[in-house]
Amino acid sequence: MPLFEIPFIAVFTLVLAFIFGTVLASFITCTAGRILAHEDWTRGFSHCDTCGHQLGTADLFPVISYIALGGKCRYCGSRVPIRCLISEVLLGVVFVAVVLFHGRIDAVMVRNLMLAMLMMGISFCDIDGKIIHEGFVTAMLSIWIGALPFVPDLKLYIADKVAACVVFCGAVMLVSYIRTSKGKDPLKPGFLKLMAVCLLYTGFFGGAGMLILTALLKGFVKPFKNTIVPAMSVCTLVFLCVADLVDTGLLYGYIPAILNYMRVF
Ligand SMILES: [Zn+2]
Repeated sequence: MPLFEIPFIAVFTLVLAFIFGTVLASFITCTAGRILAHEDWTRGFSHCDTCGHQLGTADLFPVISYIALGGKCRYCGSRVPIRCLISEVLLGVVFVAVVLFHGRIDAVMVRNLMLAMLMMGISFCDIDGKIIHEGFVTAMLSIWIGALPFVPDLKLYIADKVAACVVFCGAVMLVSYIRTSKGKDPLKPGFLKLMAVCLLYTGFFGGAGMLILTALLKGFVKPFKNTIVPAMSVCTLVFLCVADLVDTGLLYGYIPAILNYMRVF
């Protein structure tokens, strides 16, 4: 369903997207924290990290609870990191942007929102624990596969994504092999898998842009210098959104062109 056909539906969807973003940000930051602490993330209630007091319903409203309590725990008064508030607002804004760029209410939109949430989780795991958590990568791959029946031009779509994986992952593996044979540090464990999944979302041209922008962010922008995952997450989402605006003929046109060229020989 097109987003802007009925203005009320558009506004309602965008407000809902923002609210879902804030709620899911607190869920995913909590999940990432529990994974790093080796706690079971599937059960148990949220609690204050300082006093351990279980949080009540009034403490769990994203953004509102933080502002109402002045950024402090209701029970022990300890400061709740500002990052909680920032991540909630950030994912809310990202959700709104993803919906706006996609421009339709469909399964692919839901897939993109889930990806944005998982990217926040895997980024926090990398920032705090310096690990690329495989669980998040598997979840990203699963929702990509799950949404395949809903993407247009399925055959070309898959060919484009697989081509991106083969070309770019192959190139990175080669560079990594040369680097390690010269005694330099090997790639971070899990990096290649994450990159492959990101390329499945962005495709060939988006993937090229994503990798260049990731390298630029990692090299020159201070907050991204120490870890690669946040930079790659941001760039994947940017190019996923941009690809939504580009005509599929332009994105996939190279595939039939190459096939025709091969037929000539
Ligand atoms: Zn407390």
